[in-house]
Amino acid sequence: MNYERLLFGTAGVPNSTAKKNNPIEGVKRIHELELDCMQLEFAHGVRMKEEISSGLRKVSYELGVPLTSHGPYYINLNAREQDKIDSSVERIIQTAKISDLCGAESMTFHAAFYMKDSPFDVFDLVEKSMNVIEERLSRLDIEIELRPELTGKTSQFGSLEELISLTKNVNSCRPCMDFSHLYARTGNFNTDKEFDEVLTSLKGQLGEDALQNMHIHMSGISSNSKGDLKHLNLEESDFNWKGLLSALKNHDCRGYIICNSPNLEVDAKMMKDYYMTL
Ligand SMILES: [Zn+2]
Repeated sequence: MNYERLLFGTAGVPNSTAKKNNPIEGVKRIHELELDCMQLEFAHGVRMKEEISSGLRKVSYELGVPLTSHGPYYINLNAREQDKIDSSVERIIQTAKISDLCGAESMTFHAAFYMKDSPFDVFDLVEKSMNVIEERLSRLDIEIELRPELTGKTSQFGSLEELISLTKNVNSCRPCMDFSHLYARTGNFNTDKEFDEVLTSLKGQLGEDALQNMHIHMSGISSNSKGDLKHLNLEESDFNWKGLLSALKNHDCRGYIICNSPNLEVDAKMMKDYYMTL
């Protein structure tokens, strides 16, 4: 994908869509709202009727509303039992297949939990599975960006450093930059200077393409020392979203910004409106 700027959309069908359970109506609503893109949420499973996926591909193309996707929550590439690892691999492949049918070009998912293992061992295991997934998708002729998410809890695989290393080692892998999670996970990365640093580092380590082709998640957030976190609307949170948008603009970042605040399209619209004034 090659976009001229950042695109703004919602994590799932906008709340104000008349038929909330129909993603095709969701894409039409995104268009009405003058938003740019939408993420398909397969949080609780990857089944989708064929007429829905082909309808999505069509409406997304006709209205010029590109799609991204989010895989199921119950994926753990570091599960205790091998059959659970295998079914996690299958779920990622299933998500990729359906996303591809819908015309989505980028998919994100939560890759693993540490389960108290050494992060180095978990990294190796995740990398191994990602290579298997990549190989199988290429045999199926499916081209999709696999984007493990930058996760918000310290019990979850998916720190910034891990995602950067994974991107270097696995061809079709890119980070899904959830900046709200990055803040929740570390307690840092909420100042203009830190946003600038993290973008500079992405570019330095992964090349220009890392900023030209981004998949970002943003929302308000609160977290506590146990790593519990809660997504909030931007105005109820101290997340420095304006600073982040300015930094993204200064670095000429392009790609998708998916808003997962509870109010979805309200914050997505607020972010887009602000961004367009920069
Ligand atoms: Zn997520």
